[in-house]
Amino acid sequence: MVTFIADCMLGKLAKWLRILGFDVLYFSKIEDSELVRIAGRDGRVLLTRDTKLAGRARTVRTLLIESEKWEDQVRQVLDVFSLRDEAAPNSLCIACNLPLKSIPRERAMNLVVPFVLERGRAFALCPGCGRVFWKGTHFEDMEGRIESLLGRKNRKAGPG
Ligand SMILES: [Zn+2]
Repeated sequence: MVTFIADCMLGKLAKWLRILGFDVLYFSKIEDSELVRIAGRDGRVLLTRDTKLAGRARTVRTLLIESEKWEDQVRQVLDVFSLRDEAAPNSLCIACNLPLKSIPRERAMNLVVPFVLERGRAFALCPGCGRVFWKGTHFEDMEGRIESLLGRKNRKAGPG
């Protein structure tokens, strides 16, 4: 599966690609040369809004992001790499970019507040930062956005 590294201007794009389950490295501060080096080392596609950087980064695969709107940016990446069917929403930690591990409700019990435990349908733990993620009514808003980005309905993916 294709993996990415996003430039400093693309924080929201990086976050949403992670929400959709795609491996994206993102640093809020990083030198252009370092972005290119990591992209080359890991075989990641460099996502950038910087035409100069895109021009200079000839040794790595680069996608010049066209829109200023994050929704359109996400759609551009999904379109270019035909990723709509590869998406696995809520399978990666938004903070660490690491795969989440599904955990049973009993284990989540000690890790989340009762409100969440009551409403959560499925729980997952990040092995990096220890955060617990859950699906529930609370997040229908986000799920609606995910569906709209992917242009599909009633499909389940990710933990649970
Ligand atoms: Zn994490």
